[in-house]
Amino acid sequence: MDIYSSEHRSQLMARIHARNTSCELLMRKHLFSLGYRYRLHSKRLPGTPDIVLPKYKTVIFIHGCFWHGHSDCPIFREPKSNMTFWRKKILANSVRDAKVIGKLEMDGWKVIVVWECELRRKSVRDKTLAGIVNEIQDITSLPGDTM
Ligand SMILES: [Zn+2]
Repeated sequence: MDIYSSEHRSQLMARIHARNTSCELLMRKHLFSLGYRYRLHSKRLPGTPDIVLPKYKTVIFIHGCFWHGHSDCPIFREPKSNMTFWRKKILANSVRDAKVIGKLEMDGWKVIVVWECELRRKSVRDKTLAGIVNEIQDITSLPGDTM
């Protein structure tokens, strides 16, 4: 049995490609409050990144855990029906994501991928947001960093 009714499941699926999801808005609000300015959903870049910070040559993707196949995800549960169908779709998306990230990095962009569960869960949200800012500022690997 699918843990979701098929109706609920198709609603979830319909939201998959949605722009401006709550996680994305949360991320944007946080960056904006710290003074970062960005472009959104830039179609000129591979994969149409959700957030583009030209000044830092950085792009941020906020990935839905289901659709992008977050492995060992603490919130995402695999649907129990049509498993082959979803697995195929999710695998195709993961392959595409990897290609997009490769292309962007080749062009000198720093690519940050944030998973939905890292923003959705209150217990880890602040740490996620702080980590992203560190990454934008390139202070993730300072000598003596104990993180
Ligand atoms: Zn996840």
